[in-house]
Amino acid sequence: MTTADQAFVKKHNQNILLSEIIKRSPISRAKLSELTHLNKATVSSQVAALIESKLVFEIGQGQSSGGRRPVLLVFNKDAGYAIGVDLGVNYIRTVLTNLSGNIVFEDFVTLADPSFAAVGPLLTDRLHYVMHHAPESPYGIIGIGIGIQGFVDEEQKILFTPNSKWDHVDLRSFLQKDFNFPILLTNEANAGAYGEKLFGTLRDCQNGVFVSLGIGLGVGLILNGEMYNGTHGFSGELGHMTIDLAGKKCHCGNRGCWELYVSERTFLRQLSRLKGRTLNDIREALDLIRNNDVNALNCLDQIAYYLGLGVTNIINIFDPELVILNGNLVESSPLVMSTVKKTVAERAFKHVESRCRITVSELGREATAIGGASFAIEEFFENRETSL
Ligand SMILES: [Zn+2]
Repeated sequence: MTTADQAFVKKHNQNILLSEIIKRSPISRAKLSELTHLNKATVSSQVAALIESKLVFEIGQGQSSGGRRPVLLVFNKDAGYAIGVDLGVNYIRTVLTNLSGNIVFEDFVTLADPSFAAVGPLLTDRLHYVMHHAPESPYGIIGIGIGIQGFVDEEQKILFTPNSKWDHVDLRSFLQKDFNFPILLTNEANAGAYGEKLFGTLRDCQNGVFVSLGIGLGVGLILNGEMYNGTHGFSGELGHMTIDLAGKKCHCGNRGCWELYVSERTFLRQLSRLKGRTLNDIREALDLIRNNDVNALNCLDQIAYYLGLGVTNIINIFDPELVILNGNLVESSPLVMSTVKKTVAERAFKHVESRCRITVSELGREATAIGGASFAIEEFFENRETSL
């Protein structure tokens, strides 16, 4: 083997060991050797390198059936911190997480003006603010991941945001002037799906669908254990599948799109009609739901019915293990989940539907922001320099 080959093998072995330590810590060197089939000398030298790199440390003593008790290895989840952003149409949610995706600080601001001219500087400001809350650590801030409600191309440029109407915005270059670490952009539903895959409900799932319901509707797909991005990175626009062929006209050019029947915008419009006054603020509507307002619950039930229709299509198309629903309205009342499940049970293929679980997101309103951070964390592990 050439020196380059040897270096590659060592790095590969070190990454295998690190991922086992992350998954199973605390763990002994002997157990690592058994699980990875790497010999004891390799485990010993590569674990030493991981300890040197401060990603792993040793603790106390484990249980042993006899003889010397082994020292256990633990992943140092606080070796660095990632920033994740959920860049909504009318808010910015920013989280600081450790390398295990645990939130250590969170910031939330609402947006009065959704234009890039207003949002760009404000986002820079919030990122600085959150960054300064990172505890001391060997690697410091390892990257920023941002979930966008819109289309992000292969070069990480924002092509278009349907609701805030950004057109060809290079947010990454704009931020890179202020921040000297990797910045990654992705669609918000993809971010949510990835966050659930790395740190949430989809952790042990091969085929899972993440439905993010907000002002619009986005879907993130985990297929065969991987994020499915589509040919050009534009997968998951299931909010624009037709559920009413003669339905209302959508901004995408189609008619009767699913999103038009389930979004927060639709909910507010229908509730306004029943109330005879204009409701613009979802928080006010959520209060009405909490207080069992009959009009609000009727509107919510109708939204949940349409949500169930779309979920039926998704289950019939993908045969997933799990469909995760996320968003203010989803979390607002158990009524949503019961109506969705009832609709799906009535309509989907029985043998598929009976094996698919539908559940509310474990990461909740932080799903997209944690998802953004999860991309940054994964990038850090993939590209870190290994000391050999
Ligand atoms: Zn549409």
